[in-house]
Amino acid sequence: MSDPILVTRSSMPDYDEYISEIKDMWENHWLTNMGPKHKQLQAMLKEYMGVENVDLFTNGHMAIELTLQALNLQGEVITTPFTFASTTHAIVRNKLEPVFCDIDPVTYTIDTEKLESLITDRTCAIMPVHVYGNVCNIEEIDRIAKKHELKIVYDAAHTFGETYKGKGIGSFGDASCFSFHATKVFNSIEGGAVCFSNPSLGKKLYDLKNFGIHGPEEVSAVGANAKMNEFCAAMGICNLRHVDEEIAKRKAVVERYNSHLSGVDGIQLNAVQPDVKSNYAYYPVVFDEKVFGASRSEIFEKLAENGIGARKYFYPLTNTFSAFHGKYDVNQTPVALHISKRVLTLPLYADLALEDVDRICEIILSCKK
Ligand SMILES: *Cc1c(COP(=O)(O)O)cnc(C)c1O
Repeated sequence: MSDPILVTRSSMPDYDEYISEIKDMWENHWLTNMGPKHKQLQAMLKEYMGVENVDLFTNGHMAIELTLQALNLQGEVITTPFTFASTTHAIVRNKLEPVFCDIDPVTYTIDTEKLESLITDRTCAIMPVHVYGNVCNIEEIDRIAKKHELKIVYDAAHTFGETYKGKGIGSFGDASCFSFHATKVFNSIEGGAVCFSNPSLGKKLYDLKNFGIHGPEEVSAVGANAKMNEFCAAMGICNLRHVDEEIAKRKAVVERYNSHLSGVDGIQLNAVQPDVKSNYAYYPVVFDEKVFGASRSEIFEKLAENGIGARKYFYPLTNTFSAFHGKYDVNQTPVALHISKRVLTLPLYADLALEDVDRICEIILSCKK
């Protein structure tokens, strides 16, 4: 049998490139606390992402959690349950109440037609997710937020390197939070970033990631420790040099999948968004058992038998987590529930061989009845 294929595989620079990047750390002994690598990566990212401001964090989750804290919010935050645990947890850990809006059946992002009816006098913010790298309905979210004076914080963990109508995807809303986790399109081992336009938000975030320390003798907020260390920043610097090649290779993998799976009855592929420069982050496939003849779970098992790791991503929905003890009604988000029961994300990473894509698709299509 062939070697197992995992759903993802972390991008890494050549060993020698990383070693030469970290070499000067043995001279300056500066390992963390916004050192030279941190500053260099920050400057490189500002340029690459095409944003006014970017700050770095230890991971994407703390980027989101501290952004909500920095905005001084109270009350309800409208979000979607079709996402990674982090989005909902960041809201709850800030003692805010998540209010779950359903998703659009094509882009899987927040359904802006259902959004406005969820706004109450306790709503303080909207936290939409650019899920799988699919960009939310930005104009409509802006319009609604402006009308009701709500903050917008995007969970942009999946959209590194994307643009919308030619602008960096981090330029929208009050803030956009990115993840540089090992499994993401761009990684700094673990890492995260917040893009924002208001410099006063930036100052608060800068303090919050370092315990709320504002000066040598002043601690002005109850912050956390969420600083990116120098080894992670160095990994980010190296990976950023190659990220365009990595995205191009991902594109070739996606096109190979499409060549086998598009037009197959009972299979819904990810939507192509004309105004978006995509990063090819994920390859979600939604299976309609009645038409395709096999269920998502059968296909998942069949792939597993062949050493291929697909993922039920995102299943379960965050509003069904046992952590919340049945507090939320999943029937409020029927489209999200429907998609979460039928979706599989297929293996996708830059170095996935196109012959392996052929084999994965052959196995999937062999399940069709
Ligand atoms: C990965 C991810 C996060 C959290 O990022 P970490 O860097 O792992 O903390 C948040 N939201 C979404 C949608 C993610 O996929």
